[in-house]
Formats: sequence, structure tokens, C-alpha cells
Amino acid sequence: MKITGSSQPLFTLSDGMLYDSRKLPWSECCANPVRAIYSQLFHAIETTEHMRACLRHGAYCYGSGEIMFVCSDGACLCFKCAREEYAQISSSIREGFSDGWRVIGLWDSGSSDEPEYCAHCNKFVSAYEEESEYLERIVEEQGE
Ligand SMILES: [Zn+2]
Repeated sequence: MKITGSSQPLFTLSDGMLYDSRKLPWSECCANPVRAIYSQLFHAIETTEHMRACLRHGAYCYGSGEIMFVCSDGACLCFKCAREEYAQISSSIREGFSDGWRVIGLWDSGSSDEPEYCAHCNKFVSAYEEESEYLERIVEEQGE
């Protein structure tokens, strides 16, 4: 029996690689990815290829939470802003600029007790609480 592949000729598997069933039989194409880095999260982002793979992966880290991108100045960018400002980010990564757009890694809400704000749009990201709850807690802690 010949396995002819999925209904989509280009596909990704859970390994984050891109495969093309048009070029090779189904059984062989899974051993020969078209792109080894395609759709996956990198906690250290050193190249624009890493950045694009993170953007293709999506805004949520399986089993954890929503991701944000950490820039070389320590500020965070939400997924939406990183996607919209990809041209600036990729230029800064390639050139090694420290202009506030060079993404160097990922932060995910599920691995931190403290929330983060996007430095570009001020979006609040937390795995545990809404922004109003967070602000109330901060005010209570300051009052003690
Ligand atoms: Zn944002």
C-alpha cells in the first residue's frame, strides 16, 4: 500500500519542522524536512530565523501561557506588536542594534508569578490574574 500523504502538501509536525509531501513519498518526506527551523519557540533568539519560527508558532506556549518577546534592553513586546513590527525587529537582530527592538528571547506568562506589560502597546499579560486584580494587590502590598 502506498501512503500518499496529507491533504496539504506543505505541513508541520510537533517537531516544528516544515515538510513537503509533493517532493518525496509520504514515508520519506518525514525524514527530510524542507526547513528544520520553521514553527517552534526558542527561549534564546539569536537570528531572524529563530524570530520567524516563534512568530509562526503562535502566541501561546503549550502547557504554559502567553508568550512575550524580551528585548536587549529588558523590555517586553507582546506577540501582536512583535508581528506588526517584525521589519524593525529583524533589522535590529541582523545588525545587533541596541535600539529597543532587538529581541533576544522569550518570556512566557506560565513561568512567572509576576505579570508583564508590552513596552509598545502596554498590553497586560499574566497567567494568574487580570490587570485590575494585579493593581489592587500592588496597592494593598504598598499599604502594608
Ligand atoms: Zn504590544
